[in-house]
Amino acid sequence: MKYIDEFQDPALARRLLDDIHATVTRPWALMEVCGGQTHSIIRHGIDQLLPEQVELIHGPGCPVCVTPLEVIDKALEIASRPNVIFCSFGDMLRVPGSGRDLFRVRSEGGDVRVVYSPLDALRIAQQNPDREVVFFGIGFETTAPPNAMTVYQARRLGIRNFSLLVSHVRVPPAIEAIMQSPDCRVQAFLAAGHVCSVMGVAEYPALAERYRVPIVVTGFEPLDVLEGVRRAVRQLERGEHTVDNAYARAVREEGNPAAQAMLADVFEVTDRAWRGIGTIPGSGWRLSERYRAYDAELRFSVEAIATREPAECRSGEVLQGLIKPHQCEAFGTTCTPRNPLGATMVSSEGACAAYYLYRRLGGTTTAATTAPPTAPVTTAVEASPVG
Ligand code: SF4
Repeated sequence: MKYIDEFQDPALARRLLDDIHATVTRPWALMEVCGGQTHSIIRHGIDQLLPEQVELIHGPGCPVCVTPLEVIDKALEIASRPNVIFCSFGDMLRVPGSGRDLFRVRSEGGDVRVVYSPLDALRIAQQNPDREVVFFGIGFETTAPPNAMTVYQARRLGIRNFSLLVSHVRVPPAIEAIMQSPDCRVQAFLAAGHVCSVMGVAEYPALAERYRVPIVVTGFEPLDVLEGVRRAVRQLERGEHTVDNAYARAVREEGNPAAQAMLADVFEVTDRAWRGIGTIPGSGWRLSERYRAYDAELRFSVEAIATREPAECRSGEVLQGLIKPHQCEAFGTTCTPRNPLGATMVSSEGACAAYYLYRRLGGTTTAATTAPPTAPVTTAVEASPVG
């Protein structure tokens, strides 16, 4: 497939790996802040092919995983109300709240619908003027622009029975919070390419300078990830800490100005809680004053909801890179993708689910898992389901 196969080429992967192996002289810890990259790394066995001195820490980059339990419980409460049509992308339906999930609400009679675009929800609102239609707007700088556009359209068209349950988060403040943590081991970041395709790279040089960390804008295919690692390691070995764009086929320095303008009109920056991490100042968006009437939290008065995380779930430590998923006692036993205890086991971009699917220690393993760390890259890449 054009633009996919080229970036899974085993021979090129081997060359990048050889370069990394030749460059590394001491241990380094790199964090990817993107669930898509985490999925790619585990699926293709990339971490197992790197020199043992290079550790990849899987950061809080999965939008489903970082959505706080409190917001999930608010969604469940709103979706349970009579006269509400609650619309969401499919991966949110299995995310466990304090006591149930959206599938359970639907089985109990709630009108919960899976949509493929927020504009589908707006259409449902137009078709059902006597009912309240709510769209569950979660995610990073990538999903925020279409959700902003939908609210903009609702206001422009005078559709008043539509609202947005907002839980959007921003990557740069999360990087800052990670670097300020006393337990932080991260020495370089692979920044999420799709986030930068929207926001550009302007927010990163100050972070790289303040914390003296290389930040490499990185894509998602195996060669993208390897190239991001190669550039980050090269900087670390040289004692450099600059922002480097290794995903130039998609990311322009200025990002997407039209999307940024839409965000600036519809949203305003606010403090946001991240599941397992806590509140990070300035790390999210809420609807701006002009669009506040479309805020589902206000419309349904669900601002104050008490939540309860499962005591055995260690997803907070997973999201901060303090443990690997299989180091959680519940991994693969009481917690599986079919019966997830925490959000990181729900989404395919979550680190726990990725480890379960591709790296089940002591259980079923994949070809990538069984490949020894020094196996030729062709083994891991070609044996992967999409390689
Ligand atoms: S394996 Fe399950 S219980 Fe353990 S941290 Fe991951 S999501 Fe939480």
